[in-house]
Amino acid sequence: MKFFRISILLILSLTCISCAQKKAAVSFEAMNTFMTMQAYGKNCSQSLELAKNRILEIEKHISTTDSESDLYKLNLNSANGNSNNVPINPDLQLLTIYSLNISQQTQGAFNPALYPITKAWGFTTGNYQVPDQNLITQLLPLTDCSKIQLEWDAINLEPGMEMDFGALGKGYAGDQALSLLRENGITSALIDLGGNIQTLGSKPDGSDWNIGIKNPWDGTSAIAALKVCNKAIITSGGYERFFTASDGKQYIHIFDGTTGYPVNNGTSSVTIVTESGLYGDALSTALFVMGKEKAIEFWKEKRDFEFIIFTDSKDMIYTKGLEDKIHIIGNINSSAVIQ
Ligand code: ADP
Ligand code: MG
Repeated sequence: MKFFRISILLILSLTCISCAQKKAAVSFEAMNTFMTMQAYGKNCSQSLELAKNRILEIEKHISTTDSESDLYKLNLNSANGNSNNVPINPDLQLLTIYSLNISQQTQGAFNPALYPITKAWGFTTGNYQVPDQNLITQLLPLTDCSKIQLEWDAINLEPGMEMDFGALGKGYAGDQALSLLRENGITSALIDLGGNIQTLGSKPDGSDWNIGIKNPWDGTSAIAALKVCNKAIITSGGYERFFTASDGKQYIHIFDGTTGYPVNNGTSSVTIVTESGLYGDALSTALFVMGKEKAIEFWKEKRDFEFIIFTDSKDMIYTKGLEDKIHIIGNINSSAVIQ
């Protein structure tokens, strides 16, 4: 009898170990980037497949280059000089409302209507160029996102206006993917959507995830590591996409909507740590545009996220909530905690 009880216990514990260790992973390309997702536990492979399909569906709705996407049709309509209401799906509607709201909160640092400008610089095609100042002056009035009119299920852009959600689409896709995993019973997962890291729960053994933050000065090694669970860790950096022009200067893919020029304010990268991927992605771009001083001011008003900023002079600042979670690996000149 005793032997029987022991063997049942043994079998039970072995089953538990094997279900805790069940792991699945997928890798694919979407939203112009490489994505990987890993999940643990029962139904992990099927759940990852659902999450991947949801990301591909969102891409179909918000792509600026797929001629079947609602956003493509909306932009084309206005580029053709029309200003009629164009029907849109709920993903696009939600992102438009959210973007306009963040744009207001960040006093225009975040602007979903900069597409005519990013296009003129060649970031949409890879045919990079420094546009003529006259062209920039001509395009800037088209980037006034307060002119975007939202109807119940349609959007109206003034002729020539165009939107893009490159700055928060991946964060939204990450939130949607994690929701699907959660609904399917997954309690432990890590997704990496082109450098946007989002975690569901903790590691299967109950410990925190250890997430590397890229060194913005070489774009490859890790400069710091962060211990987190249930968080999105989203970074915007000039190193992600830039070109060197014939004037010898480097121009990056994040733009200052007041000048129509790529941001050049001494910021190397901004990492946001928060629960929502959408909020984190929007803020990583917005705080990059603001630069260090304004970013600190903004954080002091909100205090509903944490951030890390690396500057071109190799200084680091981070908010006090990260103090016991962060481990600096690479070489920096100084680090300071924002209280
Ligand atoms: P990444 O996509 O490289 O992770 P971001 O999240 O910072 O980086 O998004 C950058 C993209 O956002 C750009 O490629 C462009 O499409 C768009 N963008 C550039 N400047 C702004 C801005 N000021 N506000 C909103 N979107 C922007
Ligand atoms: Mg972003």
